[in-house]
Amino acid sequence: MRLSKTTITPTKNITRDADTVNSRLLVQGGFVRQLMAGSYIYLPFGLRVLNKIRNIIRLEMDALGGQEISMPALHPAKNWKATGGWDSIDVLFKIKSRTGKDYALGQSHEEVATPLMKEFINSYKDLPMAIYQINWKFRDELRAKSGILRGREFEMKDMYSFHETRKDFEKFYNDVKLAYVRAYNKLGLEVKATEASGGSFSDKISYEFMVLTAAGEDDILYCNKCDYCVNDENTPLNGNEECPRCKQGTLVEAVASEVGNVFDLGKKYAESFSLTYIGRDGQPRYPVMGCYGWGTTRTMGVIVEHFNDERGIIWPKSIAPFNVHLIAMRGAESQGENLYKLLQKEKVEVLLDDREGISAGEKFASADLIGCPYRLVVSPKIGEGKVEVKKRTSDKVAVVPISSLKETLDT
Ligand code: ATP
Ligand code: MG
Repeated sequence: MRLSKTTITPTKNITRDADTVNSRLLVQGGFVRQLMAGSYIYLPFGLRVLNKIRNIIRLEMDALGGQEISMPALHPAKNWKATGGWDSIDVLFKIKSRTGKDYALGQSHEEVATPLMKEFINSYKDLPMAIYQINWKFRDELRAKSGILRGREFEMKDMYSFHETRKDFEKFYNDVKLAYVRAYNKLGLEVKATEASGGSFSDKISYEFMVLTAAGEDDILYCNKCDYCVNDENTPLNGNEECPRCKQGTLVEAVASEVGNVFDLGKKYAESFSLTYIGRDGQPRYPVMGCYGWGTTRTMGVIVEHFNDERGIIWPKSIAPFNVHLIAMRGAESQGENLYKLLQKEKVEVLLDDREGISAGEKFASADLIGCPYRLVVSPKIGEGKVEVKKRTSDKVAVVPISSLKETLDT
């Protein structure tokens, strides 16, 4: 992509929407624009990052046997009345049509996914089954804040699974947990799996995946020795106490952001929608259900909160908008063009700063702000056939022959 042809010019001068690090840097770097509180437009750079996050999650869900679908955001009220959510869920957006019909905007999709399966799950032979989507959700959050961490419109990957037995559910649920951790690691994030509501003393299985960040809204306690972690809201435990699991470590208080969760739904939704299958004994039964949420847009915000310095974002390679940010200094424009074309031919994702009338200093500042893993510079001083390489994570520069550039970028 050519910076001169994009709709946005990265600049530190933009100070609006600057209440948190993620919103400030994402706006300044040209990734997003706010439409209103809690609602963001994803610009070309932002969409590239979001697409990469989506794809990392998608690969893991597909590997679990999840089938991707897309469900509407506009729901008939009757689905929400069937589960009681119409009256009990305070964040549910409700809409009345001009003919007086009631609708809800999807704040989650159990109410659509469960009745959908009535057509496809008839016998135990149809189980297990898992469907998922990566789609926008709407919630009437009292306070939409912290940039893209808490929106009124935000994106979620939501998967729903259906099982014949609790044992089968538990195996799948555990596989999802492992897949989540793998995907978070690919995104460069370390997560803590927090036991939620009831914690280790309840037989209901529910985990929240937490990333430590001061911009988060959850207070958690984790053990400094083992992987024990609980949400502060539901535990009688306190910081500095002995870990109740390993009895060796000490509990540490921390602030975190919930980037995903896995829930044991039991038979609640199947009962609400009379979703049954014919069991091995010929009798109708309710399947055991699980749901697995992942806030994709919140994850992008958390990554920005985590990976930045005073100059801008430092994207992990797996989700950077481009691997390479190429700058041609004055007098080396045609060298820049040639290298740009070469890198494109080699399938290296490259952003060329070909803006005219912009100083070298400003171009370097833009490269830091946008935060691609590598900055490449060609100039008359460096000479033909050579390029200066700098990692966003380091201040060291190296001059390498263009013939060996590919190896340098792969390491
Ligand atoms: P929270 O406690 O943060 O409100 P939640 O318990 O309501 O989250 P779920 O309904 O289970 O969350 O949604 C699944 C995931 O969607 C969450 O783990 C989070 O990553 C994301 N999410 C939830 N609400 C929002 C929001 N308002 N804006 C952005 N992401 C959100
Ligand atoms: Mg919520």
